[in-house]
Amino acid sequence: VDFVANASHELRTPLAAILGFVETLGDDKAGGDPATRQRFLKVMNDEARRMQRLVDDLMSLSRIEAEKYRLPEAPVDLAQLATEVHAILTDSGSDRGRDLVADIFEPLPMVIGDRAQLSQLIHNLMGNAMKYGRPGTPVIVHAEPAGDAMVKLTVSDEGEGIAPEHLPRLTERFYRVDSGRSRAMGGTGLGLAIVKHIVERHRGRFDIASTVGVGTTVTVLLPAAAPVSSNRQITVTQDE
Ligand code: ADP
Repeated sequence: VDFVANASHELRTPLAAILGFVETLGDDKAGGDPATRQRFLKVMNDEARRMQRLVDDLMSLSRIEAEKYRLPEAPVDLAQLATEVHAILTDSGSDRGRDLVADIFEPLPMVIGDRAQLSQLIHNLMGNAMKYGRPGTPVIVHAEPAGDAMVKLTVSDEGEGIAPEHLPRLTERFYRVDSGRSRAMGGTGLGLAIVKHIVERHRGRFDIASTVGVGTTVTVLLPAAAPVSSNRQITVTQDE
């Protein structure tokens, strides 16, 4: 019940803004001035995009939940996937693109997984690290074997961190430490809930470690498809 109420509220706020601006634009005085019209259209566009992100995340969440009891079966090359997401985000045009570092142990064992969902998981975690980390500080995606049965993926940032009392609640839908900040950064409040559901479906483990004023490291453990033994490591950074 809370979820439906929260989701409706999250959708109603941008919708009310859009309807308000449509009405104002219909008024000859405001709608007739090109500069005002452009300004209003920009706000309407931003609010519509916010609704779109929210609907996309709600649909993802419901799809992942619907598949909850269907174990993923395909071997997924997590090293390749993490490198791919790193490259996409590096080229995304964000100011933070040049701060991204991929530090992947090679060869990394395959994991058993759902490729699209694991891609979304890495996107969400790196997206958060980019949003909440301090500009100009590194965002590191790291992957290595953990024992002979798991693969460990971590995403770390140097940001304001998260106070301990918030940590247990971060994967609740729509839970945010600072709602204004999250909204200003385009957040839906669903990113970590989606990550948690993906990890659960993969029978993995998930942990957030954070120190206020220092930064945050999110760790995900995923079942490996086969054991590995090697010790080569590659680091990819984006040069200026
Ligand atoms: P949002 O869309 O608000 O980012 P998430 O579910 O991804 O939603 O995260 C929930 C909240 O957890 C965020 O609003 C933010 O307060 C906090 N958070 C998540 N990742 C980080 C991080 N790397 N550093 C600091 N705070 C974070």
